[in-house]
Amino acid sequence: MRTKYIVILGSVMSGLGKGVVTSSILKLLDFYDYRALPIKFDGYLNYDCGTMNPYRHGEVFVLDDKGEVDMDFGLYERFLNRNMTSAQSITGGKLFGSVIEKERQGGYLGVDVQIIPHLTGRAVEMIETVGKENKLDVVVVEVGGTVGDLENSYFIEAVRQLALKEPTVFVNLTYTPTMEVVGEQKTKPAQLGFKNLLQSGIMPNFVVCRSREHLLDKTREKLALFANLTRDHVIDDSDQESTYMLPLHFMEQEFDKKLLEQLGLPGKRNREKLDSWKKRVHNILNPKYSVEIGILGKYTGLSDSYASIKEALVHAGAELGAMAKMRWIESESLEGENADMSKLDGIDGLIVPGGFGKRGIEGMINGIRYARETHMPYLGICLGMQLMTVEYARNVCGLKDANSSEFNPLTEHKVISLMEEQRGVRKKGGTMRLGLWECRLAKGTTAYSLYKKENIGERHRHRYEFNNRYRDLLQKNGLVISGTTPDNKLVEFVEWKDSFGIATQSHPELRSRLEAPAPLFVGLVRAALERKSSGK
Ligand code: GLN
Repeated sequence: MRTKYIVILGSVMSGLGKGVVTSSILKLLDFYDYRALPIKFDGYLNYDCGTMNPYRHGEVFVLDDKGEVDMDFGLYERFLNRNMTSAQSITGGKLFGSVIEKERQGGYLGVDVQIIPHLTGRAVEMIETVGKENKLDVVVVEVGGTVGDLENSYFIEAVRQLALKEPTVFVNLTYTPTMEVVGEQKTKPAQLGFKNLLQSGIMPNFVVCRSREHLLDKTREKLALFANLTRDHVIDDSDQESTYMLPLHFMEQEFDKKLLEQLGLPGKRNREKLDSWKKRVHNILNPKYSVEIGILGKYTGLSDSYASIKEALVHAGAELGAMAKMRWIESESLEGENADMSKLDGIDGLIVPGGFGKRGIEGMINGIRYARETHMPYLGICLGMQLMTVEYARNVCGLKDANSSEFNPLTEHKVISLMEEQRGVRKKGGTMRLGLWECRLAKGTTAYSLYKKENIGERHRHRYEFNNRYRDLLQKNGLVISGTTPDNKLVEFVEWKDSFGIATQSHPELRSRLEAPAPLFVGLVRAALERKSSGK
């Protein structure tokens, strides 16, 4: 079958949830068993997201194939329950880079290399390649940024050209703000957005409209008029209680049927897939129990930097019929003379998430100690495993100056240290231990009981490692090493013996999906529920 294309373009402003709309459209296609994958275009000139600041740009998402990509890829995977690849991420940097490289190789001899047709042509080629190589029925292209930006203009020109030769449906995501005082949905920003889009030579086939409340009839009427559409091609995307509801909300408006009709694709819904999704969404909306999990890290306010952890807790909750609320705890508040351990009062479980840099580290170590001593369920992720090891070395093995060489390169006991391969590395882009790594779990451990198998794989993104010189000492003192790389060279999982405390060098949150929750998060939430119900 010939591959078809859906292109999602945003207007008015960023942050409207284009990624959620794209993921929901993908999910609709999945309900019909169509093979569909997304492509994301990001206008920045970074080659990938690996060198960006997560506190400004949001979490750096890591794929199996080592790709460090935009956090929207997390959304795609969580909705579709499929692994994405780096080829699906096209950044301005990557696109320009590939054209310039081809030029240097003599690929355009005698030619003036231009934005149109060379750069745009290359973008179309990249889009088509993903479709061909994955034998897709539909490619869904999410164009980052807003229509009218300089940054994505050449890419918008590329999708216009794509539509000249391939069956392509355009979806414009827009926004109608409601003015507090008059309570009216204003369409002027959306109208200006349509103007911009039409100026780029693109006529939308659908308008999806973000708004706080349901779209009013007269708002829909106006949007349809200005976008040259019939009213039934204006789709409501009002605030939902959970983002996982959006595919269902779209279905209520028959957006699935209308999209397929527009694409010329016949189809029947796969009931089983739909029911399983509905069941999980129902569980999210109707939790029977609730627990509170403390996330002990350093924050500058952007909760997007821990998006996958937030979602992994939602998935685990849905699996157990519970709601796992999060409490952000600033780790610096647990440090020094004025350390305020009462910040941990009332939580049922604790997570120390991944992170870089020295700030707040001692507070995290204090929090982990508190969890160990009070038998509070604990999950350590990457940095959280390194610090669980440091805490154990200091307070159980008596190595008072134990540390990671990332935070104190001069300390005698570097229980976490730089990997040999990392010592000479100066270049920063794509040089950490990245992507999917196999791991072997030891039978009889908590890790094994959660994953229920010996050979597993999780994703990584870090430079420092458990220092093997301390393996014996830590084990003799009771720390369990429950997972290593298959060659036994790198420690991947550690745990406490006396209570639920487990940590991994990997990032299990990156592989958690609504329909396949991460075992470690399910374990943590279950342990937290048990602790709460036992009244401790
Ligand atoms: N900073 C630590 C390292 O580089 C941990 C990284 C992380 O938590 N992702 O190893």
